[in-house]
Amino acid sequence: MPSRPQKPRKRPGVKSRRHQALRAIVLTEEEFCGVCGLEIDKRLPGTDPMGGTLGHILSVRAFPEFEFDRDNCQAEHLACNIGKAGDHA
Ligand SMILES: [Zn+2]
Repeated sequence: MPSRPQKPRKRPGVKSRRHQALRAIVLTEEEFCGVCGLEIDKRLPGTDPMGGTLGHILSVRAFPEFEFDRDNCQAEHLACNIGKAGDHA
């Protein structure tokens, strides 16, 4: 089997280590979704629509400097996070 070179490439949907670390903190501290206010089931994976994700109060697109600011982050369902992103676009 030929081995392909492992080039570190940024793929869409793959979050950085820093993002993952902050997500873990936020999901530990917060029980409820910042968008819809319903409880987040922490047993669900982050890929589940009702799973917990790291959401941003001020959109990262508009305020990239606050991407890793804890005060700008909140727990959100994946479905809510995606829906919100659409609104902000
Ligand atoms: Zn929600």
